Amino acid sequence: MIRFEAASKTYPDGTIAVDALDLVAPSGQITVLVGPSGCGKTTSLRMINRMIDATGGRILLDDQDIGKVEPAELRRGIGYVIQHAGLFPHRTIIDNIASVPIMLGRKKKQARADAMELLERVGLDQKFAHRYPVQLSGGQQQRVGVARALAADPPVMLMDEPFSAVDPVVREQLQDEFLRLQGELGKTIVFVTHDIDEAIKLGDQVAVLRVGGRLAQMATPAELLSN
Ligand code: ADP
Ligand code: ADP
Repeated sequence: MIRFEAASKTYPDGTIAVDALDLVAPSGQITVLVGPSGCGKTTSLRMINRMIDATGGRILLDDQDIGKVEPAELRRGIGYVIQHAGLFPHRTIIDNIASVPIMLGRKKKQARADAMELLERVGLDQKFAHRYPVQLSGGQQQRVGVARALAADPPVMLMDEPFSAVDPVVREQLQDEFLRLQGELGKTIVFVTHDIDEAIKLGDQVAVLRVGGRLAQMATPAELLSN
């Protein structure tokens, strides 16, 4: 479980991006952060893996104050998926996926075998394994991004608009596959989007933020639909 306790972030120029946010992201569930551009979604997400450190309050991961955990150690348990996949351009797909486990000490052969399995799980044919990212479509690259984040089998996944840069048809496929995968894996997921329909489709619960970095509403998709 991830818990924000009055967590805040004020940037050095004085911008209050996140303002005393109280939020719980339960284990095994998808918590969506939704709201307009600039409301602090990305900042909130990056505070969880300490790419950005909070300037006030604290964030707990399974009751441990993440401010007291080394960022590198923290990130071993936290996968991170961004909008444009962020794949290493000079590595093949299979090596992109296997890179983190290898870095963590897993044997190359085993890591590559695991990566092959992950390719299938995210709905990509194994023929893509030895291609380079530029040879894949945007939607396919996003699948690889998800596979790479899953490769270290982290209990927590942070996802920042992972499906926003692809066309609507592919987006829907990716969302459906993501839900199917999460049904099997049961990760603790914090998912950022500006798209309320996506939030309602994917979230077990939805945190609606407003500009200024405050929580406007915490609701289930059903509650949001009835409003
Ligand atoms: P969102 O993800 O909801 O679009 P962000 O978390 O990216 O929002 O940004 C929240 C606010 O913080 C915005 O006003 C943004 O301009 C500001 N901001 C983001 N990064 C920085 C930064 N490095 N320095 C100053 N202000 C920033
Ligand atoms: P999608 O509908 O999934 O976004 P695209 O229409 O972009 O897919 O691509 C269709 C097919 O063309 C895919 O199988 C993809 O792997 C292939 N493809 C796209 N770009 C390249 C490229 N630069 N080199 C080789 N194959 C490519």
